[in-house]
Amino acid sequence: MDDSNFENRENRNFLSMTDIVASVKKSPGENQEFVVDSLISKEHLLDLLTCSHEVSLTEDNGKVILTVGTSLHAGNSDKLRERRNLSKLSAHTHPLIESDLQASSLSADDIWAADFRDLGKVLVLIHADGILVYQKPTKHFLEDKIFDRKTESGFALFLSFLNSKGIAFFNALAEWRPNEFKWIYSLSEQMQLDLNRDFIAVTGMVVQEARWGDERAMTEVLKLFNLG
Ligand SMILES: [Zn+2]
Repeated sequence: MDDSNFENRENRNFLSMTDIVASVKKSPGENQEFVVDSLISKEHLLDLLTCSHEVSLTEDNGKVILTVGTSLHAGNSDKLRERRNLSKLSAHTHPLIESDLQASSLSADDIWAADFRDLGKVLVLIHADGILVYQKPTKHFLEDKIFDRKTESGFALFLSFLNSKGIAFFNALAEWRPNEFKWIYSLSEQMQLDLNRDFIAVTGMVVQEARWGDERAMTEVLKLFNLG
């Protein structure tokens, strides 16, 4: 679908979250957009994970907007990107169908996208194990080094973190200096996940985590979706 046509479309579907999730599961057409006209519950979000496509939840004019992406990407139209960076809510799903382990943590793309979010505002990942609230890194992975989050890139910090462990994000580097670097995607999924989780923990990216079974933490995190 042509992004510009999509963005100019004025008539959005106002539906309850229950109806939206049912509709998206039945026909997950890319770039569909809905205005959520009800509260959002934990059950809605769990149900959304069984959809074959990634889905974004952002805010516009005090309402949550649900946008359908692709099976591997939450969508990237200009308007969606703007809301993801600036609006009150910036959440996306990693569907259960993405069976690899990495789906339960931030992707490299997610670390990259966090650089563009308004400083002081959080982002949210809905995944198989629960909900992860995160932000751009707040500190360097080395204790004696400073990370200036106003001017420096968290994604660049991720690349340095990998390099410090003899891992290259880009295969070109691994091919150029094979004695020093291994390409990240040549590692096992478990190793990739461990590296990723280690990075987001030591650099202060993790703001809050709520497991599906942890009712107290879940109640707290759900306030974000209901714009509380
Ligand atoms: Zn993601």
